Amino acid sequence: GQDRPVIGRFAPSPSGPLHAGSLVAAIGSYLSARCQDGLWLLRLEDVDGDRVRPGAADQILRQLEALGLEWDGPVWQQSSRHEAYQEALETLIQAGYAYPCACSRQEIGLHGGRYPGTCRNGLPAGRIPRSWRLRVSGELPLWEDRLLGWQNTPPEQGDPVLRRADAYFAYLLACVVDDGAQGVTEIIRGGDLRPFTGVQRYLQSLLGLPHPDYGHLPLICHADGRKLSKSQHSPAWAGDPGCAWEETLKCLGWTTPTNLHGAPAGLWQNWALSELRDQSRSISWHVSAASIKLPPCSYPN
Ligand code: GLU
Repeated sequence: GQDRPVIGRFAPSPSGPLHAGSLVAAIGSYLSARCQDGLWLLRLEDVDGDRVRPGAADQILRQLEALGLEWDGPVWQQSSRHEAYQEALETLIQAGYAYPCACSRQEIGLHGGRYPGTCRNGLPAGRIPRSWRLRVSGELPLWEDRLLGWQNTPPEQGDPVLRRADAYFAYLLACVVDDGAQGVTEIIRGGDLRPFTGVQRYLQSLLGLPHPDYGHLPLICHADGRKLSKSQHSPAWAGDPGCAWEETLKCLGWTTPTNLHGAPAGLWQNWALSELRDQSRSISWHVSAASIKLPPCSYPN
């Protein structure tokens, strides 16, 4: 809706320092929120304790500060929100939307990695529950991406896990619970998360949470096509934070002015915001459909 105040967010998992692809999500979500005079929140998605790297959270905060990306309010941390996730899970269980599952990863692997629904109508006799799954029946509704248009939900994952056998809550659920609790109205994030949006919107409906607007940004890959990864320390930027702004805006499909080349981050930020405010108060003008349909843009090394 147009009337509610805009609340955007950036939600990195602290599995390593931000890389070029994370910067697209950070800067994209920041610009979109700020050019609508909205808030921009920061949430560390450290729900999966096994993937957290010591020191990564601090590194991420320092990178954002260097880019001049100031967030509003305290930094949220998923590691301190387990009670909220458990409460949401119980709501789903009571309403019959979540069910216990006894299958191991190995067993599911025998079915090509797609969960065949073994436990969805009750645990087979003698099996011990390991995880909790979300019952997804039939096709999920289409949804409209602000940047990409109408989207469907690929059915290949089957009923997704909500709480894992190791007792960690799944990203899918934690993210939805927190976006709801933080009052997030728009989610501008990397295109790698687009396939999960339909299920996240389904969870929002089941939990009585409003749907934020979604916009998925182009994915950035290594020149050889490999996905960037925080845990493998993919590069964030080659030069200073000003260079990072310039490179990131280019990835977002902007034509950057040559006279700003080499300028510090603050100048880039002011320029980008004034461009957006002049043009349309909407970032979608700059992420043209054409720049998204192309293969992901490559990034040096
Ligand atoms: N924590 C996720 C990641 O780092 C992003 C989640 C989101 O933006 O919804 O990939």
